[in-house]
Amino acid sequence: MDKRALFVSACVILVAAACSESKDAADTSGPAVDMAALHQEEYAGMRAAFCPPPPGQQASSPIPTSGDLSVEPAKIFDNLYFVGNKASSSWAITTPEGIIILDAGFHYSVKETVVAGMEKLGLDPNDIKYVIVSHGHNDHFGGAKFLQETYGAHIVMSEADWQYMVTWPQKGSPAPFPEHDIVVHDGDEVTLGGTTVRIVVTPGHTPGTISPIFPVTEGGETHLVGYWGGDGAGYLPPEEMQTYIDSATRFMDLDPAVDVELSNHAAADGTLLKLPVLKARKPGDPNPFISGHAAFREWVGVLRSCASDYLAQKKSS
Ligand SMILES: [Zn+2]
Repeated sequence: MDKRALFVSACVILVAAACSESKDAADTSGPAVDMAALHQEEYAGMRAAFCPPPPGQQASSPIPTSGDLSVEPAKIFDNLYFVGNKASSSWAITTPEGIIILDAGFHYSVKETVVAGMEKLGLDPNDIKYVIVSHGHNDHFGGAKFLQETYGAHIVMSEADWQYMVTWPQKGSPAPFPEHDIVVHDGDEVTLGGTTVRIVVTPGHTPGTISPIFPVTEGGETHLVGYWGGDGAGYLPPEEMQTYIDSATRFMDLDPAVDVELSNHAAADGTLLKLPVLKARKPGDPNPFISGHAAFREWVGVLRSCASDYLAQKKSS
């Protein structure tokens, strides 16, 4: 990383007022966070994680699975909380009638991420009514059985991924499967306590990956999250890469009101860049998780371009 990149990085995280080298630093009337710089850093992280490595270089593994993976749980919006870690993200959507969890994380970390994170934030895991599992890989369904058995939560997946989950060869320490439960299809809705999560099926990463769209609120305003359920296409056969590309194309244009991008890996949605900005936020500062629709489209476009690059590479080899 060159010096300029380091400087941009520091500016993004420390907020512009703290960037003493910036020519504009003295102008305290400007935006507190350089959102454009934040997005560029977010996209660079995505490319490092999900695009083919430059020629002659080994693919890096930017999604850590060992060492200190802990991330402070955090309230992101009035009704949305981060309860994941550096390896795998989970989110809690709160409603007056209970809680919906998006992705359960690994089976060996669900207690310290989802459960302990919720308790630290004042949420009661007994209120979990649904766990929407984006897809049948064990970094996302792994904790589902525990949440199902312990709290009676309903597990929601596409039928394609209920099937995929039990046939996909798990590496490392295999996660236990939840009992077959709720099946959703494209266009279905999961509604709890007045909040509706719209189910969008975006095959590619797996045959039945779910990418939900749902509302969040802050300051009396409603924003719409587009949650991409399957990060990465590099491991797929070429025809499934094309399916992934087609799903991304559909998802980016599905709803012009989507203005927040989220996913289930921090490497994909810049969560680790945005959390410290959110924490340092002063009254009136923007929420760094609100990107606007154009940036949301650009973000999906980066994920799509990574898949396109892998596909081009496969075709030329
Ligand atoms: Zn996966």
